[in-house]
Amino acid sequence: MSALDPSPVPATFLERCQTLLGPAGVLLDPHMIEPYTVDFWRQYRGRAAAVLRPASTAEVAAVVAEAARHRVPLVPQGGNTGLVHGGVPDASGRHVVLSLERMNRIRTIDPRGEHMVVEAGCTLEAVQRKAAEIGRLFPLTLGSQGSCQIGGNIATNAGGVHVLRYGMMRELVLGLEVVLADGRVWDGLKSLRKDNTGYDLKQLFIGSEGTLGVITAAALRLFPAPKERATVWLGVEHPGLALDVFELFRDKAGEAIASFELLSGLGVEAACTHLAGVRRPLAEPHPWHLLVELAWGFEDGLDARLEAVLSAVVAMGLVRDGTRAESEAQRANMWRIREGQSEAVRHLGAIVRNDVTVPITAIPELVARMEQWLAREHPDVRPFPFGHVGDGNLHFNFLVPPARAQLLAPILLERLYDEVVALGGSISAEHGIGRLKREALWRRRAPLDHELMLRVKRAFDPLGILNPGAILALEEEHG
Ligand code: FAD
Ligand code: ZN
Repeated sequence: MSALDPSPVPATFLERCQTLLGPAGVLLDPHMIEPYTVDFWRQYRGRAAAVLRPASTAEVAAVVAEAARHRVPLVPQGGNTGLVHGGVPDASGRHVVLSLERMNRIRTIDPRGEHMVVEAGCTLEAVQRKAAEIGRLFPLTLGSQGSCQIGGNIATNAGGVHVLRYGMMRELVLGLEVVLADGRVWDGLKSLRKDNTGYDLKQLFIGSEGTLGVITAAALRLFPAPKERATVWLGVEHPGLALDVFELFRDKAGEAIASFELLSGLGVEAACTHLAGVRRPLAEPHPWHLLVELAWGFEDGLDARLEAVLSAVVAMGLVRDGTRAESEAQRANMWRIREGQSEAVRHLGAIVRNDVTVPITAIPELVARMEQWLAREHPDVRPFPFGHVGDGNLHFNFLVPPARAQLLAPILLERLYDEVVALGGSISAEHGIGRLKREALWRRRAPLDHELMLRVKRAFDPLGILNPGAILALEEEHG
């Protein structure tokens, strides 16, 4: 089969899929396929020969077995909110999208055992809601939670604003059900907290971005729902002081810190100016802002603890100003600014995004180095870093003149990634590698890392039919 073949996916494969999945399970009409081939920000457009929409594990297994037989590459897709072009097909037209969206049932929920078993296509929000209904918390929280799906969250090892307290998705998964590249079903759907019986196979699928198996269901960990919560907004002079504030909160509020988010003045001003209904938390603009949330399982006492931290913060002169959310509406307003600033900054120009991580103590140094370099080399570019500063994870985004975005993006990102690696960091904290960052990754990771990952890939997917081109380049395997 040649890359120039206009319909490179065998008709017999698509006919078999129609028999296996029925008419609702196979999309062939280009208009119906289109949304599955474009990324969330509509910056990248791939092509797909078809979209498969199985409704059960057995159906997923059957179509993956057919794909293996016909050597058809499959791109698993959840809510398509991924930011690294991992869930959308490439431009070759040889990929078939395997959407998990119809697999959206909650299978079981156990309040006392504190876990639930859900299918991969459940949206994160549906899972959070179900947990809340029984007085439990499923802590993963992302700006995309209305659309992203549990399968996608697991495949990307998603992070979000509660990692500090509850960990990444990896820490929230107790068991998995996965369809392997040959169509067999691996049943790892245990709900055990402890299980030291050889290699922990589920961990390999978590964060594998659809390259090792298709996740069809997961046993997820639940937590007691917090009973008290307090949200504060602080204006700070620079990221170094933000870290001092963080340390103080760590000392005095410890594990009650649920979120600790840093925002640049540019992002906050844009959100307050361009997002409908958003109110400014503090009267004056500030160079940097912190959004901090405390939550715990006790009925009362959080106020006193918060007051103690805040008086220490003020006494030490660490903040310029601060306020506390006095109502759910005020809290929602603060989070709207945090989640909506990227959308708001789009009113000012084009955005070059990323998702880097450095040791927490290196954050001020990273910001300083990038600001100095930009001022010197690219004065027309404005940085607006924000992120989960308690995890060392910054979305060090850049606002650039739209006409120069294409030209500048690789230059800015290469410089950022070099600085990040020099400071002992990583080019992706939570969004993953997908197709977008593959080259940037392998220019920086050790050859032995590449060799080991390739060996894992070949062991799980010897034909290279699962999301080829994501994370690793495998051209030679299916050319
Ligand atoms: P998709 O985009 O559909 O797919 C992502 C990857 O997973 C692809 O490689 C795909 O092949 C694979 N995949 C999907 N489903 C399966 C499956 N069932 N089996 C095997 N592989 C599968 N991410 C964070 O980590 N933290 C954030 O704070 C965060 N905030 C965001 C805010 C916004 C506004 C947006 C748009 C995105 C944000 N993201 C964030 C990124 C994104 O939402 C996450 O990566 C999310 O986990 C992707 O889930 P999805 O269902 O949309 O996956
Ligand atoms: Zn993030």
